[in-house]
Amino acid sequence: MKIFKFGGASVRDAAGVRNLASILQSYAGQSVGVVISAMGKTTNALETVVDSYWAANTSEALDRWTLIENNHLTVSADLGLSAQEIAPVQTHLDHVRSLLQTPPVGSYDQVYDQLVSTGEILSTQLVTAYLLQQGLPARWTDARQLIRTDATFREGRVDWTVTEQQVRAAVNTAHGESSILITQGFIGSTHTGETTTLGREGSDYTAAILAYCLDAQDVTIWKDVPGVLNADPKYFDDTVLLTALTYQDATELAYYGATVIHPKTIKPLQNKGIPLYVRSFLQPTQPGTVVGVADVPTPVASFIFKVNQWLISLHPTDFSFITEDNLSLIFGEVAAAGLKINLMQQTALNFSFVVDNRPDRIETLFTALRPHFRVNYNEGLELITIRYYNQATIDRVLIGKTLLLEQKSRTTVQLVVREKSSVG
Ligand code: ASP
Ligand code: MG
Repeated sequence: MKIFKFGGASVRDAAGVRNLASILQSYAGQSVGVVISAMGKTTNALETVVDSYWAANTSEALDRWTLIENNHLTVSADLGLSAQEIAPVQTHLDHVRSLLQTPPVGSYDQVYDQLVSTGEILSTQLVTAYLLQQGLPARWTDARQLIRTDATFREGRVDWTVTEQQVRAAVNTAHGESSILITQGFIGSTHTGETTTLGREGSDYTAAILAYCLDAQDVTIWKDVPGVLNADPKYFDDTVLLTALTYQDATELAYYGATVIHPKTIKPLQNKGIPLYVRSFLQPTQPGTVVGVADVPTPVASFIFKVNQWLISLHPTDFSFITEDNLSLIFGEVAAAGLKINLMQQTALNFSFVVDNRPDRIETLFTALRPHFRVNYNEGLELITIRYYNQATIDRVLIGKTLLLEQKSRTTVQLVVREKSSVG
């Protein structure tokens, strides 16, 4: 079986859904599992519905919901789907509308998952309806009956044993040799059947989970870029397509902040040696990138830019140096504040580290650390990571920047920089 994943951009309108169908047509006769995200920016829009609903602002929640509803109905009308064909979509729309008129039950995160999962339910129902109308053998499957997680809402941790049993059972009983299984990315459920999500951008991860459980032949992530590029075109002019990557390279790139593949996606595939393709849904005949080759003889330099970074420096206020005692205190508090260290460096008297801009969490951290350390910080910085760097690549990214901190390993350099013009 092949596993395909289509992200929000690929199904944002009727043209996108038609394109998806034509890609699936070209795999007719093969057994394919298709994981789909919410349409376009639906997840972001649903987050705003959650906020109004949680704040007990029913009319605002309904107004915001109406925009999402209309968007789905417009796409379905553009696709020429009849009321009968979209009956499941309509049932779900009605369900959410009435839910929004009753008070929230459970924690914020629980309520978030219940509502935000709606985006994936609707997109998959709509795509399935269109595929069936086109005569494709599509079968809609509820991912909540496949992916079992614990009750960590918004960040559900997968129970691999139960998930593997459920996925295999679902595919064996319901899936013919040449049919198309359609399911939602990003969502799962607890053992009591409560909906959970796997963390924002989690649909790639769903594709990897299914592939792992089914020993899939390969996974393809269909994107609006030609494959994995060596830099984000937003920050870089002449990007290069990386045609092949090792699992390790892909993991490192994702870890340092390349957003093209969700970081959790690689490991399950690597464990089973399943290749991952990243290809363009706009140019579906192009090969794109393959992840999972044994070796890349002449690797291309890759650039990862993370903006909005804080560089925090701690100096012990007593007479101590930076020692293991201090470090364990610091790491404990960083973890407790829910922050992730993007880079760190230490001297005898000072420990410096870089984190993303999460003001509330940073404030919590500072409050915990100030009794023990003098705390200095710089905000609004950029963290640039270059994998397979040389001096020319470093010089190139430092144009117009002031270098605050640099760290090198044999393969990777990380630079913390600030725009030359800015003050602070
Ligand atoms: N729709 C979810 C999100 O936007 C999951 C995904 O797209 O991967 O985060
Ligand atoms: Mg997405």
